[in-house]
Amino acid sequence: KTKRDHQSIQVLPQEVVDLIAAGEVVQRPASVIKELIENSLDAGSTHIVVHVEKGGLSKLSISDNGSGISKSDMTLAATRHATSKFEKIDDFAHLRTFGFRGEALSSISMCAKLTITTRTRESTVGFTQTYRNGEPTSNTGSKSKNPKPCARKQGTTITVQDLFHNIPYRLKTFSKREADEYNRILTIVQYYSIHYPRCGFVCERVRMAGKQKTVLVDLNTSQLSHVKTLIQKRDDAMESASTRSDDDDENDSNEDSISATKQIMAHVFESNLENHVSHFRASKEGADPTDFAYSCQVYYTHLSYDIKSSKFVLFLNDRIIDLPPLKRAMEDVYANFSKTKPILVVQVRVPGSQVDVNVHPSKKQVALTYQEDLCDAICEKMSEALQQGGQTFKAKSVA
Ligand code: ADP
Ligand code: MG
Repeated sequence: KTKRDHQSIQVLPQEVVDLIAAGEVVQRPASVIKELIENSLDAGSTHIVVHVEKGGLSKLSISDNGSGISKSDMTLAATRHATSKFEKIDDFAHLRTFGFRGEALSSISMCAKLTITTRTRESTVGFTQTYRNGEPTSNTGSKSKNPKPCARKQGTTITVQDLFHNIPYRLKTFSKREADEYNRILTIVQYYSIHYPRCGFVCERVRMAGKQKTVLVDLNTSQLSHVKTLIQKRDDAMESASTRSDDDDENDSNEDSISATKQIMAHVFESNLENHVSHFRASKEGADPTDFAYSCQVYYTHLSYDIKSSKFVLFLNDRIIDLPPLKRAMEDVYANFSKTKPILVVQVRVPGSQVDVNVHPSKKQVALTYQEDLCDAICEKMSEALQQGGQTFKAKSVA
């Protein structure tokens, strides 16, 4: 047959449809980590450990101390469009969780061997279950497809093995790029650790020297003093409330969390950074719910502080997203004052009705109603801050 011959239209087999959809969520090991971190945060975790082997292609796992999954929910956990977080389309307007598509675990199980080990607060034992293609498979050492009891503290461990084993063309694009993939994973974990000072993050990788395995820890924010303080407060509050309080993440403006964020930035970027970072807050309320409104917090390095390459970390309504126009505009503001490159951590909130997070399955892009107004407003404040700061820092260095 040549291209010119008519071909009849056919509906694709379900497994092909599933695999195409899965490929959009699970683009690379780092996108798996992003989804799994978001699940752990949705579950109210205060400690998250990411473990990576061979750039995440042979194995990656993430352990948390969150709510856990009940034994009865384990059967559905990796089913496509099965979620505990979203019921109706109206829920978008006041979405408080990262998840809503119920696609991460199912997508992962389509292109890897997925294992969930978990325990809820109410349960006296943990359970473990493996999945393939969205369905529970029989666990090692038993024929049963039911969750197998095991020892586990409260929380969840998700293990992903042999990612893309059944998508050879994708696997091939990653061959010999394990170090690069690991760096992408580390970056994701680092950025979340900056945005969530109330949760300790660990990122570790296995290095093989012959048959000798060594585990290298590249990030550990839970050992930082200010982070410890925040976690302790949060754990205490949760213990006494006995259910997760929705407000404990809201109140992210106090001094404790600012110090913790600066400390984490230093841990992540450069150890002497802490004294060279400032912070400002800005906001605008709309008279009407449809008016442009926003609030933001920006952490920025001082004009006199020099680094090799600039860094731009953006969270919008707690989601890590790409917004190149804002990045460019803010770096331009900086360039007006100094030749040095900035580290910018930008945390923005806009009303839920002014942002659509459901543009792409990876949720990395968003559609904003007032994108230009937002960029202008933040840049204006950034400019003011640098102007004032420039004077203060100069005055300090003279004194
Ligand atoms: P979504 O996050 O969109 O709901 P996922 O496929 O990522 O979809 O997860 C499916 C469900 O599995 C979640 O709704 C949640 O109930 C449960 N789950 C996943 N990861 C965790 C975790 N780390 N802790 C507790 N529950 C989890
Ligand atoms: Mg999810």
